[in-house]
Amino acid sequence: MPVIGRFAPSPSGRMHLGNVLCALLAWLSARQQNGEYLLRIEDLDAMRCPRSYAELIMDDLRWLGLDWDGEVLYQSDRSVIYAKYEQILREKGLLYPCFCSRAALHAASAPHLSDGRVVYAGTCRDLTTAQIEEKRRTRAPAVRVRVPGEKVAFTDRVFGAYCEDLTEMCGDFIIRRSDGVFAYQLAVVVDDALSGVNEVVRGVDLLSSTPRQIWLYRQFGFTPPDFCHIPLLCDYDGRRLSKRDADLDLGRLRQHFCPEQVVGALAYAAGLTDRPEPVAAQELIADFSWKRIPQEELHLPQVLQIK
Ligand code: GLU
Repeated sequence: MPVIGRFAPSPSGRMHLGNVLCALLAWLSARQQNGEYLLRIEDLDAMRCPRSYAELIMDDLRWLGLDWDGEVLYQSDRSVIYAKYEQILREKGLLYPCFCSRAALHAASAPHLSDGRVVYAGTCRDLTTAQIEEKRRTRAPAVRVRVPGEKVAFTDRVFGAYCEDLTEMCGDFIIRRSDGVFAYQLAVVVDDALSGVNEVVRGVDLLSSTPRQIWLYRQFGFTPPDFCHIPLLCDYDGRRLSKRDADLDLGRLRQHFCPEQVVGALAYAAGLTDRPEPVAAQELIADFSWKRIPQEELHLPQVLQIK
């Protein structure tokens, strides 16, 4: 089966080096297997994601030498499709309205996991029809999906075996926000499945979303893709990269470096080359291997530091 990979950025700002690393590794893997590489703009929250940012992402990808296949998909155009899949879950009796405020969800009394994640306590799970009608008068509900006490396991190509009990680790989760915007968890599954994506490459911060997504794949009768989560990228001082580090976004980096310098530094950080020397993305295809990508945090070499 031909490989279909993708890059699915959220255009809430300029791409930073963590996004670029993800785009690069997904592209290398797809291209090395003579596969396709799709581009999807995850702009579900259209207010936070103006089209101008998406244009900049495409310009940055071209500058880096990362080409994509076919039409670019915009999630903001696809709510009718997501609604169809929401309806499938509704017909299975899996959905219910949730009126909990953000403050109530994050209250100290709510169950928190050691990594800070909040497990939904199930407050609105068993509301009666009368209670729902009453609450609807004052507040628009979000839509949650009822998860079973089921362990979902998969093998990540970088991080190996991973297993999560959905009830213990996340609880019922949101598939549509109270403002009507569909949630990432639903949209990503529907879009990847309908586009035929069979290889998902993304940051390890999304590893813990994967069991929920695999469970949704099964609800819709789709086959889940292979997952390759990539370790976090740290800056020169060993700190996690964040969107606040303007020096690490491409707008700034493009004023100081050529694409080969950026690609060369990232390839070195990811263990693909022995030295942080300039290299074109195309030149990395032949030797690319997931076996080279470590699980530990990756460190940016000094060569990209703006003096
Ligand atoms: N849009 C997400 C992000 O930019 C990535 C989602 C995914 O790759 O599944 O972090």
